[in-house]
Amino acid sequence: MVSPAGQVPELRVHAVLPRSRANGPGLRTVVWTQGCALGCRGCFNPQTHAAGDAGAAWAVPALAEHVASFGTDGVTISGGEPLEQADAVVELARLCAGHGLSVIVLTGFAMPALRERRPRLVAALAEHVDVLVAGPYVAARRVAAGLRGSDNKTVHVFSGRHTLAELAEVPVAEATVGPDGTVVLTGVDPVAAVQARAGPVGAGVRAGA
Ligand code: SF4
Repeated sequence: MVSPAGQVPELRVHAVLPRSRANGPGLRTVVWTQGCALGCRGCFNPQTHAAGDAGAAWAVPALAEHVASFGTDGVTISGGEPLEQADAVVELARLCAGHGLSVIVLTGFAMPALRERRPRLVAALAEHVDVLVAGPYVAARRVAAGLRGSDNKTVHVFSGRHTLAELAEVPVAEATVGPDGTVVLTGVDPVAAVQARAGPVGAGVRAGA
């Protein structure tokens, strides 16, 4: 998953939340990528679906420095669909891991399909990512716990850095008030009334991806 020589990989980003405790173990920075064509029914993040020029374009090395600047324990890369920008996401994971951050990726692609169709990507993720949560959001199977929006999602612990028990203890919801008063609600179990009042950043409730 190497970019062509001389090219700095670029990632289209929906939002960055500097600090969160509801997107993985410990204090984490969250990067929501922009663009998702998977179309899970009941998705909580439709504002992340548009691709093309939507969102902000970040040079991946600059984004990794930005993430590292917050001094958190790790980064969670969510979406949108991160693996629709797989090369850039793998590079972001690699650079963030180089800063000593733990890396969690949430994808709406199911692991069997990834293993069959994109084995090199799976190998790259296994090398640079600590935990991958994989599978589409299925509203009828909603569980909203342990970073899984629905129970069809599978959790892949690639390193010894985190345990399933740690993931199970992650708070399921969190409201963050920004300096401008903007409220960002995030986590896997949003309160709908609060979500409706959330600001544009993230509007950040993860039930899928
Ligand atoms: S739940 Fe995630 S993968 Fe599914 S449509 Fe929404 S953003 Fe895309």
